[in-house]
Amino acid sequence: MHFVEVAIKVPLQRTFDYKVEQLLHSPELRVGMRVRVPFGSQKKIAVVLAIKTSTYVPEDKIKAIIDVIDDAPILSEQHLALLKFTARYYCYPLGETIHTALPAALRQGECPDKTSINMVELTDKGAKLPSLKAKTQLNLLKQLAQSGKSSLTELKALGFNKKTIDSLLEKELIKQFIEHDNQWQQRAPTIGSKPTLNKEQAVACTTINQASGFTCFLLEGVTGSGKTEVYLQCLEEVLKKGQQALVLVPEIGLTPQTVNRFRRRFPDTPIMLWHSALTDNERLQTWRFCEKGSCAIVIGTRSSIFLPFLSLGMIIVDEEHDSSFKQQDTLRYHARDLAAYRAYQQQIPLILGSATPALETLHKAINNKYQLLSLTERAQTSTDNQFHLMDMKGQPEQAGIAHASLAYMRQHLERGKQVMVFLNRRGFSPTLICHECGWLSECSRCSTSATFHKAIGQMICHHCSEQHAVPHQCPDCGSTQIFPNGKGTEQIEEFLAETFPDIPISRIDRDSTRRKGSLEKALDDINQGGARILVGTQMLAKGHHFADVSLVLILDVDSGLYSCDFRATEHLAQLVTQVAGRAGRSGEPGQVLLQTHFPEHPLLQDLVNNGYQDFARYALAEREDAQLPPITNMAIVRAEGHNINQVMDFLTDLVPVQNISGIQLLGPIPAPLERVAGKYRFQLHIQALERSHLHQYLAQMVDYISTSKLAQKVRWSLDVDPIDM
Ligand code: ADP
Ligand code: ZN
Ligand code: ZN
Repeated sequence: MHFVEVAIKVPLQRTFDYKVEQLLHSPELRVGMRVRVPFGSQKKIAVVLAIKTSTYVPEDKIKAIIDVIDDAPILSEQHLALLKFTARYYCYPLGETIHTALPAALRQGECPDKTSINMVELTDKGAKLPSLKAKTQLNLLKQLAQSGKSSLTELKALGFNKKTIDSLLEKELIKQFIEHDNQWQQRAPTIGSKPTLNKEQAVACTTINQASGFTCFLLEGVTGSGKTEVYLQCLEEVLKKGQQALVLVPEIGLTPQTVNRFRRRFPDTPIMLWHSALTDNERLQTWRFCEKGSCAIVIGTRSSIFLPFLSLGMIIVDEEHDSSFKQQDTLRYHARDLAAYRAYQQQIPLILGSATPALETLHKAINNKYQLLSLTERAQTSTDNQFHLMDMKGQPEQAGIAHASLAYMRQHLERGKQVMVFLNRRGFSPTLICHECGWLSECSRCSTSATFHKAIGQMICHHCSEQHAVPHQCPDCGSTQIFPNGKGTEQIEEFLAETFPDIPISRIDRDSTRRKGSLEKALDDINQGGARILVGTQMLAKGHHFADVSLVLILDVDSGLYSCDFRATEHLAQLVTQVAGRAGRSGEPGQVLLQTHFPEHPLLQDLVNNGYQDFARYALAEREDAQLPPITNMAIVRAEGHNINQVMDFLTDLVPVQNISGIQLLGPIPAPLERVAGKYRFQLHIQALERSHLHQYLAQMVDYISTSKLAQKVRWSLDVDPIDM
């Protein structure tokens, strides 16, 4: 008699045993295969973790598996080890962890095996870029001229529809072909034209290429210092060895610019993308390609860390400090940290690149766990940005922009340069206020304001998305004297359009880029020199290259200086540095204006005079003094419910769970937003100097919760290594 231990998608921290009655029709049952099992009154799909000859389950209780789904394992032993590690580290049920990692098509039953991918490229006729009346058709040709080839999926993600593609096919300007490439390992990759590395880049490349086994590198370099060039030249060596590579990028960083650059450098290397817009089928296809080794490079967002690879040779995490690498619900993993585990598991190099490394990463570099490589100069222009702290005290201003700032803008615009105005708040104004009685627009379900969106005439809560029409009268006193209070990007855009009537303006935030392809279009417009003023939220801060920006104006610096989250200053410094990195690519030094009421604040002084590197090292010393992460290790238990007492009782009950030395507890304390969508939210902070102590405590706590009746009355979650409060 054989038994199998399986993982099932249930919210329980345990595995299950079943017996295998006869050798079912499948060739041989192996670890990593999916089977169907009876579970309560249901049938469920389970993944085999172990095959064994005995079980703890009594003979009359054990059930038999129903059937075997796969002919071969869908998860290798190594891949299972990664998922087991993930489940253990984040204290999340293994069955649910596997469920999160698998593409949807594999979570269900059978799935067809697709091994080809539909690509298009220009024909000779198309390569001449004939003039076409239809602008989108011409744009598609231009895109293909940039990338060499693109998959239908990618074109769709860029906003090109089937009709456009079909008409170009009909005109024989583009042609379709099937990419089916298992041969790339056997031939030397073709390498597109590339610059000669400067000294620092060369040192970085050589060091990385000479590394053997697992080494983690922190490639610290300002925007434009040539980090991507280092990645590309390191990848070249990986490809020459016939190995695959995973390049993780922030959600917002997966732009055609980035992808085209990789495609141009490695024109005959199969490169695939992984992001949230893929369909289930496309996900499955990419998964299979990676597994079989038919894909050499994956450029992907967070969840690509779970892709299977046949022979992974390197992992790169670009903009490693970016918060999109951390999943903020269900399985709260950090793709960068799992990348470190994976690289260690495979004994391969990991490159973490950033202009503004997370303090977590920097801490490891300073303690020699990671190897620090620095790029200190911009690759093309060697000019440094000039920072100015614009003291807002007593300054005349309009729409939150100081008159002195407007004068700067005018100067740059008159010289034909582009100006970027940055405010991390979308909408027209964060609240409406009644001039008679002081009423403020609030979300009825959250302890926060309802944002005024003028263009669509709606009040929207940015936390629970509750939406209603703009009131014409004050709901409290009936007055019609209600006005926008505070500023959002929509208002800035409107004000600047009035102030600079002849200057084209482009606004980039989540509202203006909701439609597929609209962000790409806006960015394209900007790069073609259309818009001269760019207004935006942090979406503007990331990864995009703008040639002509010479002035960056950051409006609301102060909100980041005083916050209840101890990471707020780190995030502010990263944001300021990232935004500033958009200026000064046009050959002259860029100017960066920071509007603040606290120009003498030591953080701002340090950042402006000595740069992020200096600030970060100073901030680390502060964390050391305060005994906060990354010096200590932290986890947060969050709980929410309609009944405040039940929420408090649940958390209070956890406090004395176990006496483990070195554990510090804080709470229950209210969450930064105490009420969201009608529910009360409280949290418990758990800290330990030693990671092992923290995990020992968490394991016992999760065990305890699984038996706690109080837990059934609230929604709770555990966040290991949280990146916000
Ligand atoms: P980062 O990734 O750090 O922002 P990039 O690699 O994108 O920097 O480089 C910025 C610009 O400089 C790009 O246009 C790139 O092609 C160019 N560049 C990078 N390295 C060199 C080099 N060694 N010589 C000339 N140009 C370079
Ligand atoms: Zn009123
Ligand atoms: Zn709300």
